[in-house]
Amino acid sequence: MKQLPFTRQQLEEITKQFPTPFHIYDEAGIIKCVRDLYDAFSWNRGFKEYFAVKALPNPYILSVLKSLGCGADCASAPELTLARASGITGDGIMFSSNDTPADEYKYAAELGAIINLDDISHISLLEQLDVMPERVCCRYNPGNAFSMTNDIMGHLADSKFGMTKPQLFDAMAILKSRGVKHFGIHAMLVSSAMETEYYPRLARSLFELAVEVKNKTGVEVDFLNLSGGLGIPYYPDQEPINISLIGRLVREEYDRIIAPTGMEVAIFTELGRYITGPYGYLVSRVLHKKQIYKNYIGLDASAANLMRPAMYGSYHHITIMGKEEAPCDHLYDVTGSLCENNDKFAVDRLLPEVQVGDLAVIHDTGAHGHSMGYNYNGKLRSAELLLKTDGTVQMIRRAERDADYFATLDFSSYFKDLCD
Ligand SMILES: *Cc1c(COP(=O)(O)O)cnc(C)c1O
Repeated sequence: MKQLPFTRQQLEEITKQFPTPFHIYDEAGIIKCVRDLYDAFSWNRGFKEYFAVKALPNPYILSVLKSLGCGADCASAPELTLARASGITGDGIMFSSNDTPADEYKYAAELGAIINLDDISHISLLEQLDVMPERVCCRYNPGNAFSMTNDIMGHLADSKFGMTKPQLFDAMAILKSRGVKHFGIHAMLVSSAMETEYYPRLARSLFELAVEVKNKTGVEVDFLNLSGGLGIPYYPDQEPINISLIGRLVREEYDRIIAPTGMEVAIFTELGRYITGPYGYLVSRVLHKKQIYKNYIGLDASAANLMRPAMYGSYHHITIMGKEEAPCDHLYDVTGSLCENNDKFAVDRLLPEVQVGDLAVIHDTGAHGHSMGYNYNGKLRSAELLLKTDGTVQMIRRAERDADYFATLDFSSYFKDLCD
């Protein structure tokens, strides 16, 4: 059974102040997750999680994460600004971008961020811009030499990210000759991994690579960035991954491969989904029931609030509040209101009998949820709320208004008046 941090009654109270739909995040759940992660890697001096900002780009969340020792993994200028607004600067920022515009490198360098180069050709761009930092990370793509692929990334030789191994060696040597003092290697090879072996296997290949880099180029890397990609149990019968076991298995590889060389290497992660995914909920009200060839439940939320089911066919569990114990004996498609037939949160889902006015809670929306929202059909993005550890609820992003939607038309007098 999927747990919820609130009852139907509590949620009804919240909706009196904040109308549906909204995403609500459970601060206590996020805090526990981060603490467990740091415990699992406490054997590694210098371990740090750089939260992947794109998963939940909200400065209130980033501030909570910062207070727990996390940094921020950014890939655009606005994400850098969010990190900065949350008090995260300098080497608290990992700039893991790709296809990067010059301006964004400049901004990242200004903030003192660690720059994670996606390609060897970007070295000359940093030189042209005169922003070569002292600390640089290189992103590695092992191609089909590493296989633990799942559907989302596909075969690594088809992945646009990172450098080949020969390029990585060259890049390290060039960077060294350009005065770079501190080096790291980054790799993100899968997404949503539920396999315990993913991090240990990735760690092993990065540890071996670090030793090879040392032997070939004389460069001793300071840190290895295992990046993100750990999965969460979207289905109610799935078990969460065992992070403390994963930490122990990574340690075994470290002790075997790195320790004998005398190198000291910090391990970094850039988790997004794993940190906030399970602790977010999209709360929505049932607007309509419709019976044609199938039975439909129409919500006041749509794919504009949560794109994953429409985009990836992802499973998101749904709880009808107050009916947690009722038998799931009615078959429904649960839809939003977009003029797109893929705007369905669930297809052929067994639920208790649903009534108009029920509160439907969609689980696991804390990462890549609100942030993937969009405005198709003139639908507006919802508010984001934080359920704090003391039980109070704070609005951490207001819902969009019509004027936000029209704001980019404010050069026209009609819309300018509407927006003022
Ligand atoms: C998306 C992304 C992450 C986070 O991925 P999750 O699947 O949310 O853990 C980390 N690093 C980089 C470079 C990414 O693009």
